[in-house]
Amino acid sequence: MTRTSPAEALNGVQPTHACNCCNKHFRTGVLVRARATYCEEDGWILQQIWCENCADSVTQKITDRDDEAIIGAIFWNRRLTSVKTKQNSSK
Ligand SMILES: [Zn+2]
Repeated sequence: MTRTSPAEALNGVQPTHACNCCNKHFRTGVLVRARATYCEEDGWILQQIWCENCADSVTQKITDRDDEAIIGAIFWNRRLTSVKTKQNSSK
């Protein structure tokens, strides 16, 4: 069974519009990073989102599970665009 990539699945998703770490509001055009997890019924689901400043320290603690991924994206009109997978342990 093939799984959609987190980048594909999360393009266009509307995240919460503040960093989960420092609570800074995202403005259109900023880079954000997010953690997503995969479940069979719903596919990739956004769990947390951070500004670039917080992302480095937070994403280092991410485990190596294959149902978890870190994505990078641009916050645009309250949606995620140009989503790229940064870290995903599934091979
Ligand atoms: Zn932050």
